[in-house]
Amino acid sequence: MPQKKTQAIVLHGRDLGEADCLVTFLTPEAGRLAALAKHARKSKRRFMNCLEPLSLVEFIYTEKPHQELARLESGVLVEAFRGLRRSLLPLAAAAVLTEVTGELVGTMDTVAAVFATLKNGLGHLAAGQPPWSLFLSHLIRVVAETGFGPQWEHCRLCGEADGSLVWFSPAQGNVVCQGCVGRVTGERLYPLHRGSRKLLQAAHRLPLAHLARLRFPDLARQETLAVLRPFLGQIIGRELPSWGFLEKILPYVEPSETRR
Ligand SMILES: [Zn+2]
Repeated sequence: MPQKKTQAIVLHGRDLGEADCLVTFLTPEAGRLAALAKHARKSKRRFMNCLEPLSLVEFIYTEKPHQELARLESGVLVEAFRGLRRSLLPLAAAAVLTEVTGELVGTMDTVAAVFATLKNGLGHLAAGQPPWSLFLSHLIRVVAETGFGPQWEHCRLCGEADGSLVWFSPAQGNVVCQGCVGRVTGERLYPLHRGSRKLLQAAHRLPLAHLARLRFPDLARQETLAVLRPFLGQIIGRELPSWGFLEKILPYVEPSETRR
């Protein structure tokens, strides 16, 4: 089989046996791939610093017919995003963004746009820009680009789009207006004010080059975080370990950082 060369973002890696590594990574052409790096722990030359999660690398790999696992031949580190390791919040935000992207992409064929969004998000987080705003804008964008984007604006019961407050249903992936909320039973609903919805829509639509400029003020941050976690749990079908990590570190994050 011919070898393929690709840019990749490492999702995770684990040791296998004495010397091998099993690596999962995201590529712009083939989505999420899993590959076996034979003798990776003994051959530092073939895999120098390039199997760390959250790294941008260039991999050469071979896909084998009828086999789920590709074979990783070698790799070169392109960008380690070292700035992510400077403090806990950017690191935790990057971990959630990367895990969600890996989960939602699955085996979709062409994920160039999603790959570009993740790379952009990791780059800006590593550069020390406001972590919450970057996290939310890029997470919302990835959800939309993978085809899971909810209906944030029009009430599912009456179709109305205005109103300063609507209620989001993670179970249905859509909203009901204030006038219709009394007709909904047995579903947990979350408030979304107009300002939050404007930011959600901007995160869908802005050119990628401008996405990092979006800022989520306190109320929008709280409302968006509150809806995203149960909604992602619903579409992914399980709780994400990285989100648990994000919640666990919050008491240790500088107050000035949690507000950005
Ligand atoms: Zn309505």
